[in-house]
Amino acid sequence: MNDMQSASIVLAECYPLGCTSEDYASNALATDLQLRREEKRRDTPLTPPGQGEAASGFPTLRPYQTNAVQNLRIALAGGIVREMLCSPTGSGKTEIGMALVRGARRKNKRVAFLCNRVHLVEQTSRRFTRAGIMHGILQGENTARVYENVLVASIKTVARRGLPDVDLILIDEAHTVAGSKEYRRMLAAAKGVPVVGLSATPYARGLGKHYDELGGALFEHMTVAATIPELIDAGYLVDCDVYAPSEPDMTGIKQARNAFGDMDYTDADVGRAADKPELVGDIVTHWMRLARGTPTVCFAANIAHSKHIVERFLAAGVTAEHIDCYTEEEDRRAILARVETAETLVISNVGILAEGWDFPACRTLILARPTRSLIRYIQMAGRVLRPHGSKTRALILDHSGTATRLGFPTEEFPLELDDGTPRDAKGTQEVREKPLPKACPSCSYLKTVHKCPVCGFAPERRANVDVRAGDLVRIAKKAKAPKIDKQAFYSQLLCIASSRSYKAGWAANKYREYFGVWPRGLREVMAPEAGPVVIGFLKHLQIRDARAKRGAHAGA
Ligand SMILES: [Zn+2]
Repeated sequence: MNDMQSASIVLAECYPLGCTSEDYASNALATDLQLRREEKRRDTPLTPPGQGEAASGFPTLRPYQTNAVQNLRIALAGGIVREMLCSPTGSGKTEIGMALVRGARRKNKRVAFLCNRVHLVEQTSRRFTRAGIMHGILQGENTARVYENVLVASIKTVARRGLPDVDLILIDEAHTVAGSKEYRRMLAAAKGVPVVGLSATPYARGLGKHYDELGGALFEHMTVAATIPELIDAGYLVDCDVYAPSEPDMTGIKQARNAFGDMDYTDADVGRAADKPELVGDIVTHWMRLARGTPTVCFAANIAHSKHIVERFLAAGVTAEHIDCYTEEEDRRAILARVETAETLVISNVGILAEGWDFPACRTLILARPTRSLIRYIQMAGRVLRPHGSKTRALILDHSGTATRLGFPTEEFPLELDDGTPRDAKGTQEVREKPLPKACPSCSYLKTVHKCPVCGFAPERRANVDVRAGDLVRIAKKAKAPKIDKQAFYSQLLCIASSRSYKAGWAANKYREYFGVWPRGLREVMAPEAGPVVIGFLKHLQIRDARAKRGAHAGA
């Protein structure tokens, strides 16, 4: 029997399912998403977006998760040995993984679940325990009960001691397999054993690259459980508003391959560019303007930068704490507990919270670490996209230029494994179908449309210049006189009210004086500064009131 046959037989035995055609699976996904959309339209409360837990402690799978399990089975039964599962942050990829583990265990098959970090081994072990999956651990000094049919293992320990014989290998955070010699050696040694990689961000260079020692591609095929736009549409994730008020100057900053196999700015350089007092001050100012009072996670360029940001928040009277890989376990737990009870509003870190930290109530993300890595970006953004209570949208304050560089984190990204062939100098940019978003010059809201949907500001279009070779005809459209928008007007009044500490209601009153109606239906969003129309109107009111006063005195 060859490797492929044995792989498909193991998997076919693990998951005896009735109807398994891909048509069925994709129809079921469409139906699930359709149902969620209808629920949303009818305004009925959505079923809790969290993973439901059956009495046994094993989570009930959502329909798209069930489909993903089926599609993985179809792929492996069809001769694929190393399969990637793409399942975005918040979609429950661990639940899909656990369903595979449970299916294998029922058949008395041995399964290894590999993680690349100690805390992910611990976390997985806890989740398996909660789900009632008996397992052993293969990780340094924590190694225990290796006789169990299910092993949660650290790749570092496996690289040193080797992997016991297993029938199925699951790899968590599988994008890190790209460029990892430890993983490649393990996969070569376990050649023929079916492998499922789990990743929310399978975008690393070389994930689909051919290796002679593997007799094929690192991952040969990918199953997509659901995409971020689909999950938002169905109410499993929330959409986000992005503001991009400032960004560091990244010209001349060096790039190198990061731990995910992506090209990115080097850590040393990125700190130098981002850790500047005026940029740090800006972060706090804009948080006060747009996100005051919301649970917030901040990703900084390096530890010093993160601490500087925390200092500035504290100086502004906002509870904030820093966490890093040197934070003692006990302190770390205490800090995260304070974040969850909102005793601490802003938690700042470099990257430690980008993987595996789950706090759905977190609404605001501050991006202060410039990155070119789609993986790093999507992981950071994933922290705020989970629905929770009354949270209907997340807020991203981008001080790193990332969203204008890579696009919104909630769009659909290319779903193909990278085979490692060299990209041209333009990197991934050339495959974009949609234009990159731009920040509104008035309120810094990130948008792809001309007129800002938040403050209504529409930058004067540059004269349309059409130069044709030969005749040199220039067609210049005359720009319309700028028309003040109601939201822009109100937002600018709010800005003045805040900077002069006027009472609540002042802005609404002035708005009413101008437009003759209350600012109903407008958003309480502050503009960064007031424009000439608003300033002129207030000056006019001042003069009017002064005159009225003089008149009253004269009459007395
Ligand atoms: Zn705007």
